[in-house]
Amino acid sequence: DAKAKGRNRYEFFSESLALQLQEQRTLAAQLHESLNNNEFELVYQPQFDLTTGRIAACEALLRWRPSQEVASVSPGVFIPVAERTDLILHIGRWVMEQACRQVKAWRDQGIKIRVDINVSGRELVEPGYFAGLDDCRARYGLEPQDIGIELTENILIKAGSDALEELKKQREKGVEISVDDFGVGYSSLSYLKHFPVSHLKIDRTFLKDAPESAYDGALMEAIVNVGHKLDLFIVAEGVETAEQSRYCQELKVEYAQGFLYAKPMPARELEVLLISSKK
Ligand code: C2E
Ligand code: MG
Ligand code: MG
Ligand code: MG
Repeated sequence: DAKAKGRNRYEFFSESLALQLQEQRTLAAQLHESLNNNEFELVYQPQFDLTTGRIAACEALLRWRPSQEVASVSPGVFIPVAERTDLILHIGRWVMEQACRQVKAWRDQGIKIRVDINVSGRELVEPGYFAGLDDCRARYGLEPQDIGIELTENILIKAGSDALEELKKQREKGVEISVDDFGVGYSSLSYLKHFPVSHLKIDRTFLKDAPESAYDGALMEAIVNVGHKLDLFIVAEGVETAEQSRYCQELKVEYAQGFLYAKPMPARELEVLLISSKK
């Protein structure tokens, strides 16, 4: 009967929940070990200037390959788990250090490029986070312009006045600050003027169906227009086709990032690209 069915469903649910929790605990323990065992890697995806076709900057994206595994685990899976504990702070510190070290290594080879790192909400509210960033840059002899930060709009909306004040100080020093995945959160364009940011990264879901979908196309255009009115640079994320790229150019989007131009790649590979595009 219905009651029995209901109970079964409940048991099924709680079992899978327990399983999920167990899996997450295992995952968290593995992540912790991986930090000590060098099982993380940063890959870099270039952002192209749509006017000149040149590489303008790149985004550092984290990869985790546990030693016994062949394939790496997606950050979309392990970042949310790490964010439930202080692990994200350790991971974030590793990312920051690694990004600074890489910029410095490239600098020593005569290559100048900005690397943007993704900052999670937990990091943003961590006291001393930005002092840590200042310190990290200083240790590698870097300028504020050398390391950019990406924060999703949802993180920015939840940010308190202390965090926004810290961001403002970074921005005033010249740090490029991007609103990541813009358009999919619950913010509105009117929020933008309150954030100390320099770039808007339009989420790839908008581009996916624009320009064919009049609705997404209209949203894209509205975001680009308001962004430009607020003196922000626009970055299109997830450009996969030549048509999307042309569409972005028509809209006067400044920068684009996506599989059409380049996938995220190890530092060595990006180096080759950077050297050949300099000529
Ligand atoms: P995100 O910051 O929005 O990064 C862009 C994601 O889109 C990356 O996925 C990238 O590989 C992917 N992408 C780039 N071009 C294309 C394209 O043309 N088509 C499609 N379908 N996808 C494209 P990835 O590397 O799996 O990272 C996923 C998310 O994980 C990131 O989204 C970011 O939120 C988070 N993440 C990655 N690295 C870090 C990190 O070091 N720290 C933190 N806190 N989060 C990170
Ligand atoms: Mg990002
Ligand atoms: Mg994004
Ligand atoms: Mg994202």
